[in-house]
Amino acid sequence: MRLENKVAVVTGAGRGIGKGIAACLAEEGANIVVADVNIEVAALAAEEIKRLGRKALPVKTDVSKWDDAQNLITSTIHEFGRIDILVNNAGINRDAMLHKMALEQWDQVIAVNLTGTFNCLKAAAMVMREQEYGRIINISSASWLGNIGQANYSASKAGVVGLTKTAARELAKKNITVNAICPGFIDTEMTRGVPDKVWDTMISKIPMGKVGTPGDIGNVVVFLASDDASYVTAEVINVGGGMVL
Ligand code: NAP
Repeated sequence: MRLENKVAVVTGAGRGIGKGIAACLAEEGANIVVADVNIEVAALAAEEIKRLGRKALPVKTDVSKWDDAQNLITSTIHEFGRIDILVNNAGINRDAMLHKMALEQWDQVIAVNLTGTFNCLKAAAMVMREQEYGRIINISSASWLGNIGQANYSASKAGVVGLTKTAARELAKKNITVNAICPGFIDTEMTRGVPDKVWDTMISKIPMGKVGTPGDIGNVVVFLASDDASYVTAEVINVGGGMVL
């Protein structure tokens, strides 16, 4: 129970990695605000957290919209009185080769992955500064180093790394840590969409020879959110079975 009575906001927590992160935080004692653009899946995920004995609040949030991000944090304070942990997980991909990528595909991915992370980080940091306490964990991707067919996604995730390091420097004196996790290849609907051939190629590039689970990411989030990591900030941690060497 490393996070007993902490209040955690997880974006994109209705399914996939976000849902796994929320469950890991709840198992360690945290109460969870389940933010997702899809309120139905957010409500279902919140019910599962309540069954673990924690409090859970689903909040419909499109992270790309500043008003939604602000409402997410206001709703959290209204319900729980504080926000200890923010996990910026919501993300999308709209893959295409550079020469075929439409401006709309570029804009959508930057809006959710990068502007969405900025919106929630800014809204939460305003409260965390006052509290003089906070743990912010941004979900980037191994693709931030560049990946064919993912110019928009890679750029957004590289932006998340730069944002993480800048926010970490700005907020360090206020006892707020900011770190990023770069998942490798994790079994969710996002990756289930790839053709079988691509799936097999991805697995062949992972030294551990297997796909990761949302819980693999959640366990590292728990560490970064806990007192064990109180002197860890501005770090970028790969969680990918050795995929990035
Ligand atoms: P996922 O299965 O597609 O789940 C993403 C969740 O985010 C969904 O619940 C989705 O809602 C929600 N969402 C989408 N747009 C949103 C918005 N504008 N505001 C709020 N919520 C929104 O994806 P995932 O695989 O769990 O990925 C989670 C994060 O990990 C992403 O940032 C992704 O880039 C990153 N990541 C994933 C992998 C991987 O291998 N899976 C690897 C590296 C990094 P809907 O159901 O309505 O779409």
